[in-house]
Amino acid sequence: ASRMMSAPLESSKLQIRSTTKPSTPKNNEDLGFGKTFTDHMLAVEWTQEKGWGAPEIKPYGNLSLDPSCAVFHYGFELFEGLKAYRTPDNKITMFRPDKNMERLNKSAARICLPTVDGEEVIKLMGKLIEQDKHLVPKGQGYALYLRPTMIGTTAALGVSAPDRALLFVIASPVGPYYKTGFKAVRLEATDYATRAWPGGCGDKKLGANYAPCVLPQKQAAERGYQQNLWLFGPEKYITEVGTMNVFFVFKDAKTGKKELVTAPLDGTILEGVTRDSILTLAEQNLSSDEWTISERYFSIKEVEERAAKGELVEAFGAGTAAVVSPIKEIGWNGKDINVPLQDGKQSGPLTETIAKWIADIQYGNVKHGNWSRE
Ligand code: PMP
Repeated sequence: ASRMMSAPLESSKLQIRSTTKPSTPKNNEDLGFGKTFTDHMLAVEWTQEKGWGAPEIKPYGNLSLDPSCAVFHYGFELFEGLKAYRTPDNKITMFRPDKNMERLNKSAARICLPTVDGEEVIKLMGKLIEQDKHLVPKGQGYALYLRPTMIGTTAALGVSAPDRALLFVIASPVGPYYKTGFKAVRLEATDYATRAWPGGCGDKKLGANYAPCVLPQKQAAERGYQQNLWLFGPEKYITEVGTMNVFFVFKDAKTGKKELVTAPLDGTILEGVTRDSILTLAEQNLSSDEWTISERYFSIKEVEERAAKGELVEAFGAGTAAVVSPIKEIGWNGKDINVPLQDGKQSGPLTETIAKWIADIQYGNVKHGNWSRE
């Protein structure tokens, strides 16, 4: 059968095999990030010949794979990360899962893995959540982190497009990134290692993009910086921070006008769902008399110069895990650039406001279009 004739991924074919040993929820205080998982997982197999098989929800457990599988040798792997939140009326809603499915398909296409009908996977993730509902923690800052993953499982050593794949989703109850409120971080502006480059695949969520970034992070940590501020090119453009997108706020000393700025999606930047949400909410909520919102190139040199003029007002990372993560210092050229924080606080005012906008939507206190999905 040709690829055209192969079966699409259909949630109606779901088969559920429940665990015989359901677990009891942990205390909220004992939840770390991605260390424990719920009782079940979702798995769907794909073959070139037949297309997608019947999706299965089954007890969480080991995979059995041939050691020659493509994933182990050539990095045929992609993943996603999104969260589901318990709302005041005790529904559990995923935050913008359609964006994650869109990105999953872009990642899949780039490494010759099959694409999916995102809406079908969203329905299946809804079923997985339903199955393990009692393990979704309650309370502000708590959520169920979902990790869709796809791997190439062809058992042969030739480097070619996999003719077999496995899509699976695991789920982890998680606590707030900042247990006692924000804790602003120190970054090392990093130009001795490059996270992504033009014509590369840094805008895709491939496992292969992540392993090489851990060594520079350890090196920065040895010098007292928690994360890398990834620079690119001779211009030393600011791209991302650690595994988050990054935003800066500048205030023009002459006009008093403020600018919220982040790097443009030029193929070297991961298309963050949080980034997109922040840009959308900023456009909707910030007065255009006071604010400009920009997706543009900006360099560490601009940050350094504007900090010297008193024009650097705020900086923060943005991603699913922490939502926003305030920045207080940036090590560059042997000096630290200082980012102002509010008196006695660990973030600037816009950082705090944005965190509230997003949390209100995620926890179902405010409705925003179809951003929350059951
Ligand atoms: N950049 C990178 C490199 C990331 O790994 C992530 C986390 N997925 C992000 C940005 C933020 O993306 P999102 O807001 O979709 O979590």
